[in-house]
Amino acid sequence: MHDLYQELIIDHGTHPRRFGPLPEHTHHERGHNPLCGDDLTLYLKVEDGVIEKVRFEGSGCAISMASASLMAERLEGLSVDEAKKLFEKVHSLLSGTPVEGLGKIEALSGVCKYPMRVKCATLSWHALMGALEQSSEATEK
Ligand code: ZN
Repeated sequence: MHDLYQELIIDHGTHPRRFGPLPEHTHHERGHNPLCGDDLTLYLKVEDGVIEKVRFEGSGCAISMASASLMAERLEGLSVDEAKKLFEKVHSLLSGTPVEGLGKIEALSGVCKYPMRVKCATLSWHALMGALEQSSEATEK
């Protein structure tokens, strides 16, 4: 793995950004990867189709925490449609297809060489898709 990428993963894995609860969330989804023991819950605050805030809680390996941290940083300010497109790009990246324009998230590109770790890296992204498929909790009430 590229040294800089490795440093980013270790940094975000040990000091995840956007980590913590989000009481005012409109969407949430838990992701669990029993193969590794990664278990996280993603919280989103979506307003007028824009992801305004992202937080996550839980525990897991450095790859799963780094992926969730990099994702959370990137998502804030994106529209729901943009977030879904981003998911597709990250999915390609983790399947071994080079994708440009992902910024720091490209640090995850080396993970595709380790099939066991791909599930760690995709966990938060699948939680994101699951959360976005739900209707807003705020409007259900
Ligand atoms: Zn893991």
